[in-house]
Amino acid sequence: MSDTNNEFSVGKNFITAIIDKDNETGKYEGRVATRFPPEPNGYLHIGHAKSICLNFGLAKDYSGTCNLRFDDTNPVKEDTEYVDSIQEDVRWLGFGWDDRIHYSSDYFGKLYEFAVQLIKVGKAYVDSLSAEEIREYRGTLKEPGKDSPYRNRSIEENLELFEKMKNGEFGDGEHVLRAKIDMSSANVIMRDPTIYRIRKASHHRTGDDWCIYPMYDFTHCISDSLEKITHSICTLEFENNRALYDWVLETLGVYRPQQLEFARLNLGYTVMSKRRLIQLVEDGYVSGWDDPRMPTISGMRRRGYSPASIRNFCERIGVAKAANMVDFALLEFSVREDLNMNSPRYMGVINPLKVVIENYPEGQVEEFEFQNNPEDPEAGTRMVPFSRTMYIERDDFMEDAPKKFFRLSVGREVRLRYAYYVTCTDVVKDDNGEIIELRCTYDPETRGGWSKDGRKVKGTIHWISVEHAVETEVRLYNHLFTKENPMDNKDGSDFKDHINPESLEVRPKCYVEPALGNVEPGFRCQFERIGYFCADLDSTPEKPVFNRTATLRDTWKKIEKKQVK
Ligand code: ATP
Ligand code: MG
Repeated sequence: MSDTNNEFSVGKNFITAIIDKDNETGKYEGRVATRFPPEPNGYLHIGHAKSICLNFGLAKDYSGTCNLRFDDTNPVKEDTEYVDSIQEDVRWLGFGWDDRIHYSSDYFGKLYEFAVQLIKVGKAYVDSLSAEEIREYRGTLKEPGKDSPYRNRSIEENLELFEKMKNGEFGDGEHVLRAKIDMSSANVIMRDPTIYRIRKASHHRTGDDWCIYPMYDFTHCISDSLEKITHSICTLEFENNRALYDWVLETLGVYRPQQLEFARLNLGYTVMSKRRLIQLVEDGYVSGWDDPRMPTISGMRRRGYSPASIRNFCERIGVAKAANMVDFALLEFSVREDLNMNSPRYMGVINPLKVVIENYPEGQVEEFEFQNNPEDPEAGTRMVPFSRTMYIERDDFMEDAPKKFFRLSVGREVRLRYAYYVTCTDVVKDDNGEIIELRCTYDPETRGGWSKDGRKVKGTIHWISVEHAVETEVRLYNHLFTKENPMDNKDGSDFKDHINPESLEVRPKCYVEPALGNVEPGFRCQFERIGYFCADLDSTPEKPVFNRTATLRDTWKKIEKKQVK
């Protein structure tokens, strides 16, 4: 499959313009070093894919490097399960990091030293206000903040208190270490931000070595600096944090990368923040992080999206400064485009109706040759068994059919794909009047699906021989939310109020041709005329389970034309 990323390129955008300029002026001696810095507090989503494609893609386009760095400074929310899943997802997207894997927690010792250095130059102090008081003292966008009464502690006292914080002599929240910047700064972030706090919690990597943990704004810039990153790319909500990023590194007098911000991806009919996604998982709205309805990379993989389709999507949406909402249809377009080229075709019936071909000899079986992929001649052909009793799609029959209905109806003739012309002669109903079976006759003179006398039929439908059919469960998916932007709470609603009750439809009794009887989970294919499907993790040799990856749209028309001779 198309799972390598050799063809991937970020393309030109405002970030590459900056890099080109830096390379011209020799700002970083022509080096390009980026990083992808997830916090391991959840699984990656399609928004992260945008950031991954950008950071790893730039490294690829400029023959530079991209580090994978776990921003793991919050012991309470982070977990090795997430660390593992993140690595799997980045690799699956087609990117690698060789030995350039880092953890902010590896820098805890150095970060502590840097904090001590700030105290020593009078640029950090231990504050003993409560969290709430700190918030009050901070002021608002309109009003300046007030100095904490502890702001002018002596350097000696600060050093001593900070060491005691580290040694576990205080409880959570008793003290924090703050940068000493400017309580009346117009940029609220610069009003003496907290850079260390006490958290008596075990960390998934450092265990109980530490009970003070550095804050994001302090950790991130120093990690970038230590790793000699050149372009530190993040999303727009960090624009105001850039001043602090620069302040910390300048004050410490260390190497300074430049922070660049781009607009995060928002996608319609879903939510993207890990904080929200974890609620969906924990409250049981979905089956897990990899539920095929989730916007997570693992969910999309399980649903059958290919890595190439996600990369193509990221290439298509580009990188800009303006926030916007991307249409879900654009993602599906990218998925279809790739699957159309690369997935083999099979027949599957997802709403079965039985057909008996009355004049076809009992016990007879013929095999017909099918092209595996009309888009790809190299994909070859396969043989499909045909017999007297068939399943067809219920939608391919209509009792009181209008003139323009070119599929089956009593008295009408259609082509069973690649096999024979059949004419419907009768319907069988149950006591409730529901159609349970069709009776047909076939024309033996139309073997292969075309008539020697030149008689044309307008409809071609797919079929599965009942005695050869493999029973499967099929899962159909719709948007997880009924509202394009579930986060819009102007009407006072919570995002969970907009969960789509019909986002999953399970069809326990569907049928596919025998060739699909024993496929591995993750196997992707097209069910002709129905859509793209992927074998689910829940598949067993006894019963395959297929997820509908995406519907087809118009491609059937093209195939049909090719077949009519
Ligand atoms: P979330 O709100 O989902 O928790 P986050 O930004 O807190 O996202 P991180 O793990 O810190 O998640 O993100 C790692 C990287 O991915 C960051 O550089 C971040 O800017 C980027 N990123 C996260 N969400 C998006 C998005 N929707 N679009 C583009 N980039 C994103
Ligand atoms: Mg975060």
